[in-house]
Amino acid sequence: MIINNKIDPEFRYKKMLTKIRESGGRITSHRLALIRLLAASEGHPNATQLYEALRRQFPTISLATIYKTLALLKDEGEVLEIDLHNDSHYDGNKPYSHPHLICTHCNRIFDGDIISGIQNLNQEIEEKCNFQVSRHQLVFYGLCEECQQKVS
Ligand SMILES: [Zn+2]
Ligand SMILES: [Zn+2]
Repeated sequence: MIINNKIDPEFRYKKMLTKIRESGGRITSHRLALIRLLAASEGHPNATQLYEALRRQFPTISLATIYKTLALLKDEGEVLEIDLHNDSHYDGNKPYSHPHLICTHCNRIFDGDIISGIQNLNQEIEEKCNFQVSRHQLVFYGLCEECQQKVS
């Protein structure tokens, strides 16, 4: 499987909680559970997937709560939004810009941040295009290791 170099979810949970507190956001049981999920962000879920995962434990949770919390965390730079045109997926484990690999067969999203050269790319753009890069969204489409075996 793709190398899993996750940041400690407990560390991310505490960081997000602190940021919400500092920004004056309300801390509710729903929010805590959502932050807990986002801290690991297994598989880079979208809002609906987060909602479905939480609804089992919290039948009264609303999709609006999910979106509001995601927006707040995004403003604070604590969650990375992967904007896939009509669908956004989220990474609260690594909130900074990093490449993603999307399998077109199983639709899973993997981290591609072990590849080198991103820093060089940013620098090259700044030098050759005189463009100051603040963030990037790099997405590679293809087949994951598991699907390569299924398809071939
Ligand atoms: Zn796949
Ligand atoms: Zn990611």
